[in-house]
Amino acid sequence: MPITCPACGSDRTQSCPAAHSAGVSSFASRSTPMGLGTTVTTEGLAMTGLATQCAPPEPALTFRAGCGILVIGWAVLFLVMLVTGGLAGKQQSDAVGWLEMLCLIASVAFAVWLTCRGIRYNANVLPGLLKTWQRTWICTA
Ligand SMILES: [Zn+2]
Repeated sequence: MPITCPACGSDRTQSCPAAHSAGVSSFASRSTPMGLGTTVTTEGLAMTGLATQCAPPEPALTFRAGCGILVIGWAVLFLVMLVTGGLAGKQQSDAVGWLEMLCLIASVAFAVWLTCRGIRYNANVLPGLLKTWQRTWICTA
């Protein structure tokens, strides 16, 4: 029994979750790059255009993104300390020390804020988006 789209009258209409899962396939390919001498296996997900169009809403990055920002922030801070410390010798000025402390606090605060925002998004916004996605239909003709 063909389902007819109420919006455009097409009978080639399907639900987004179905279109998405139908268009996603995992692949594994082997190749031997010249000069490398070993076989490299490439694995991944292949998606058709329709599957990409019908991709489900992504959850916000939460704890891991926060940690990532912390790590990057601290790595940058460490580099700055290395450079400024190297330039100023052992006698680092108070201003630089305060600036570093400020950067540290700012990066922690930013990571915490990002994590909280992501958790709130995943709890309050994402379920609604998922429900809408499940009710979305797509016409292919
Ligand atoms: Zn339609």
